[in-house]
Amino acid sequence: MITVEHLSKRYGDVLAVDDLSFTIEDGHIYGFLGPNGAGKSTTLNIITGCLAATSGDIKIDGHDIYEEEKEAKKLIGYLPEIPPLYVEQTPREYLKFVAEAKGIAKAELESEINRVIQETHIEEMQNRLIKHLSKGYRQRVGIAQALLGNPSVIILDEPTVGLDPMQIIEIRDLISELGKKHTVILSSHILSEIQAICEKVLIIYKGKLVVYDDITNLGKSLSSENEIEIMTEATEEKVSEVINHIDAISSFQQTENFEKYHCYKLSTAMENPYEVCELVFRAFVANSIPLVKLNPVQTSLEDIFIELTSSEQDSELGEMDSDYEEYEEEEEE
Ligand code: ADP
Ligand code: MG
Repeated sequence: MITVEHLSKRYGDVLAVDDLSFTIEDGHIYGFLGPNGAGKSTTLNIITGCLAATSGDIKIDGHDIYEEEKEAKKLIGYLPEIPPLYVEQTPREYLKFVAEAKGIAKAELESEINRVIQETHIEEMQNRLIKHLSKGYRQRVGIAQALLGNPSVIILDEPTVGLDPMQIIEIRDLISELGKKHTVILSSHILSEIQAICEKVLIIYKGKLVVYDDITNLGKSLSSENEIEIMTEATEEKVSEVINHIDAISSFQQTENFEKYHCYKLSTAMENPYEVCELVFRAFVANSIPLVKLNPVQTSLEDIFIELTSSEQDSELGEMDSDYEEYEEEEEE
């Protein structure tokens, strides 16, 4: 278990982390989500003992990260944003180097290295120079070094940045696998990534914690209004006439056209949007108007993030992109 109390970090005039307090329980995959510059890396560098805080307390299983550094650090495996790989070494040589630095006993060295090589599926690459590996494999080597010593918590700082879509899927699968044996903290500025892998989410913005919840609760707790999307040939006037009789619908609005069809969004304060879908269906049938689409609109994490930070939106929000916009064509060396 990790407890963070009143953590702040100042770089000159910049308050990168602003009075953060939270607890990480054992056995879950946590998403640490926020736009670029939110303070994710700074926080993770402090939790892992790589950077000094300006103020605040961090305890790993009761061990203070400064006062009992050795005990605390043993419990954490960390893959920083920019992993310190030595590209002239092979993964096997590099892992041996890290294992020794971590103080793993000589007798266990070989079996421990074999274990992490197996867990990260880099068997076939273990004797190739790291500089000849793809970015996806390099990231696996980075994760392998974090796993050495079998720490209970694995912290990964934006592990999928710069990977192509296929590599992203493979690394995500690997992280999900790790989640079965370790507590995992995964930082990301990609909303769908957190939604795909994590059970719990911490959203950080301008150094402050703005949300801490189960990923499944997020939509429910924030959205007071549900929306239902319909597609029909009916004009706005006709739709208004039909739904006028449904009390559960508070308002509606035309969104787009698709061939001869029009799309509308209906808002409802009712908790269960499926019940409202049923009412809508019956109303259209009663008027003999076909609906070609009728479904509740799921609130995405993106909508939630915008809702949460709308009072202080700035250009940083533009940096929260989807995976595909994120993907940059990078040359394999
Ligand atoms: P994130 O990982 O969420 O993108 P960071 O923790 O890297 O955010 O940065 C948080 C803020 O602190 C940013 O405004 C960044 O410019 C600033 N910052 C980070 N590292 C340094 C540093 N070494 N010196 C000065 N400012 C820094
Ligand atoms: Mg970062």
